[in-house]
Amino acid sequence: MRIKKGFLPNIKEKMISLGIESTAHTFGVGIIDSNGNILANVKDSYTTSKGGIHPTEAKEHHLRVKDKVVEDALSEAGIDMGGVDLISFSQGPGLPPCLVVGMEKAKQLARDYKKPLVGVNHCVCHLEVGRVITKAKDPVMLYVSGANTQVIAYEGGKYRIFGETLDQGVGNFLDNFARYIGMGFPGGPKIYELALKGKEFIELPYVVKGMDISVGGILTNVKQKYDSKKFELEDLAYSIQETVFAMLIEVAERAMAHCEKEELLLGGGVCCNKRLQEMAKIMCKERGAKLYVPQNNVLVDNGLMIAWQGLLEKDGVRKIDDIDIKPGWRTDQVDVDWR
Ligand code: AMP
Ligand code: MG
Repeated sequence: MRIKKGFLPNIKEKMISLGIESTAHTFGVGIIDSNGNILANVKDSYTTSKGGIHPTEAKEHHLRVKDKVVEDALSEAGIDMGGVDLISFSQGPGLPPCLVVGMEKAKQLARDYKKPLVGVNHCVCHLEVGRVITKAKDPVMLYVSGANTQVIAYEGGKYRIFGETLDQGVGNFLDNFARYIGMGFPGGPKIYELALKGKEFIELPYVVKGMDISVGGILTNVKQKYDSKKFELEDLAYSIQETVFAMLIEVAERAMAHCEKEELLLGGGVCCNKRLQEMAKIMCKERGAKLYVPQNNVLVDNGLMIAWQGLLEKDGVRKIDDIDIKPGWRTDQVDVDWR
């Protein structure tokens, strides 16, 4: 796959960038060159059959797989570290134990092979890789992942957050309910499968506050409904999706109207959900807007988006010892000086 001209960073000599993702469940490594050729996108994700994501266990997972994922990515790209010009890593936001593993691996490679190192913001990476892959020019992004749920758009040199969850991310909400009913992590795809068999809509709280949403009360409510044994699980799963996704589409639409933007870009693992994609499609059609949906391996956490952002921010290289993780780094704290 190749990225189209016009979206490429302004780099004279060809550069190859290697990016490391490790904010939560996924340890991923992507490799891309400045001509837009995607050379590798390899990952190994932590999953469970019953419980949820446990930060220390996710960290142990990353420690176990990190060397192999880097090796596999290099071999997929057909290069060795000598051929890499720049290393980038997800500096935040994320789970500190997981972030540290990615940063230490990136620092080790940067020291051993004397390569420049740049730390990038994970949420911004979702947006930029989505933009470059789909060719969306100036979209509102509905970013729905495990920990993060935000409606983002570019205004005045920053990616502003126009709406967000007031408590937990929609992915964490789905994962939490799946864990409660004894299904493992990640729960989103399992809820989706159940929802396909749902027949009856059960009314749940619908919580939109201005441009923001909240899912904590809905989680308590569906757990109570599940415990009461009065409802079919499939109907609950179906109603969860219909309710929470409608909330997401409502705030995304309001942001599009407010910002007068005519493109919607989806990002984050929850946007792999076909029903959410369908709702987004209907909303965009009704307002004459365009919907852009990257492929699943770009929607979920991945190293490719980190490598791509590294190229965009190649002038942000700093001394290795001065670089640390930024677990609470917000999208709107990043100065967007590359576009
Ligand atoms: P990310 O952090 O962006 O990689 O997204 C991970 C989240 O996406 C997890 O909470 C998953 O449960 C969720 N997810 C993955 N696939 C789906 C799907 N088909 N439907 C809903 N949620 C999903
Ligand atoms: Mg993510």
